[in-house]
Amino acid sequence: MKNCPIVVSRIGRSYTGPMASSREFDATRLDVETFAAEGAVLQGQWPLRDLPRLRDSVAADMPPEPADAVRWKARGERMANVRPELWLHLEADASIALQCQRCLAPVEVSVVVDRRFGFVAGEDAAAALDATSDDDIIALTRTLDLRVLVEDELLLALPLVPMHAVCPTPLAVHDADHSVDEAANPFAALAALKSDRNGTH
Ligand SMILES: [Zn+2]
Repeated sequence: MKNCPIVVSRIGRSYTGPMASSREFDATRLDVETFAAEGAVLQGQWPLRDLPRLRDSVAADMPPEPADAVRWKARGERMANVRPELWLHLEADASIALQCQRCLAPVEVSVVVDRRFGFVAGEDAAAALDATSDDDIIALTRTLDLRVLVEDELLLALPLVPMHAVCPTPLAVHDADHSVDEAANPFAALAALKSDRNGTH
């Protein structure tokens, strides 16, 4: 018997890993460098009113939306021997009522975002790297507002022309389709007319 094993085991028990769960990250003031270095994960949900630009896209006559309208998850990663070495993986999804461009009634649209962002120091370096990378490269700042980033990405993911697969008001659809067809095909109609007159077959 050399030493007292009890002391050793006590020390071992008190050790729970490097800065483990003690650190808390703030999504609206995220320290990306530390977040990535620790491989940390942060997730949560926001009501649409916290994302005012996205809220503006919602059909006007919709009732107040739930507190978890936007669900998101962020994961930090530091990659060795790669530039950038700091990465943020971002997932978000939201169910949003937009105005159908065919019948003008609200249409529920699911928007999903799954992207990753690389971070380097300096605006110029970020811009140069961004131009040659398939991923989005962002200049590293002391803090990052994840909510703004999530809102940007959800806005980009919105359909340009939201529409029901089948509109709930078929009469309005018929009228709209008819007028669009006539307006869109004047040359086709003219070509058919000329073809008939010339007697071509
Ligand atoms: Zn519709």
